[in-house]
Amino acid sequence: MIERPNFVRATLLERIDFCPQVAVFRFKSDTQLEFTPGQYATIGMEDGEKFIQRPYSLVSSPHETIVELYVDLVPEGLFTPRLWDLKPNDSLYLKSKVIGTFVLQEKTGMKNHIMASTVTGVGPSISIARTQKRDLESGKIKAADAHNLLVLHGGSCSWELGIYKDEMTELAKEGWLTYVPTISRPWEDPEWVGETGRAEELIRKYADGLSCNHTNAVGYACGHPQMIENAKGIFSRMRLPKEQIKEEKYFVVKPTPKPITTTT
Ligand SMILES: Cc1cc2nc3c(=O)[nH]c(=O)nc-3n(C[C@H](O)[C@H](O)[C@H](O)COP(=O)(O)OP(=O)(O)OC[C@H]3O[C@@H](n4cnc5c(N)ncnc54)[C@H](O)[C@@H]3O)c2cc1C
Repeated sequence: MIERPNFVRATLLERIDFCPQVAVFRFKSDTQLEFTPGQYATIGMEDGEKFIQRPYSLVSSPHETIVELYVDLVPEGLFTPRLWDLKPNDSLYLKSKVIGTFVLQEKTGMKNHIMASTVTGVGPSISIARTQKRDLESGKIKAADAHNLLVLHGGSCSWELGIYKDEMTELAKEGWLTYVPTISRPWEDPEWVGETGRAEELIRKYADGLSCNHTNAVGYACGHPQMIENAKGIFSRMRLPKEQIKEEKYFVVKPTPKPITTTT
């Protein structure tokens, strides 16, 4: 690897496959990253003459020594197929500065946080939840000051939610987290007994049930752009003002090319 300004080396420790197209990647970074939970890291790789880089939300909490990413494989993509080619002990580049504004909106004074996500878009919520758990355990924050997190985690089928489904279900026993895994294709996952439907379809049911409203809650949507648009509409209809709605769009949907019509 050549030296690249602003990047450090990260070495792959392991990849855990949830299914052929969804996995968690764990890296050891040469430098401990400093960041606020919810922010994203940029990773890069050489591709012949080119240097390609992509942003990924950090699932890990700032106190952890490993860098954990939850990634969707885009088979026709430029970066992710190369990421899947990596073997343990292979290295890539990690930008030393972690950035992003998709973080817990503490300055609003709101104690309730409604977080809707599609598959890997739950990463920021996990980082925020892990950090709050740690802060409570260390006494950095008191139980009375804990934020209430409602995390709606959507996937097509339950296996896409992987080990995070169990981790968050366990964490929810602490009381300040409500975790709702949900799948949109129950006919492909007949053994699933949990919620069905897309994450945004469950916002009102759970937010209303927990008495979250525009006077006490912030809405967050992360991942697939269509879910984000739908969730923003629902938050607006709950009367959440713009300042209380946060989004992190992972990609843009390319418009379908119009058929060429010829006049003869
Ligand atoms: C702030 C931020 C944080 C992100 N965090 C994560 C994360 O934690 N986990 C994660 O998996 N991705 C995340 N992404 C998306 C990631 O940066 C890449 O865009 C993605 O991994 C695809 O890269 P690629 O080079 O393989 O595909 P590209 O070559 O960049 O894209 C090929 C085509 O696929 C579309 N596309 C890209 N991603 C998807 C997708 N997931 N599903 C369907 N179509 C897609 C693109 O719009 C494009 O048309 C994040 C993006 C942003 C902006």
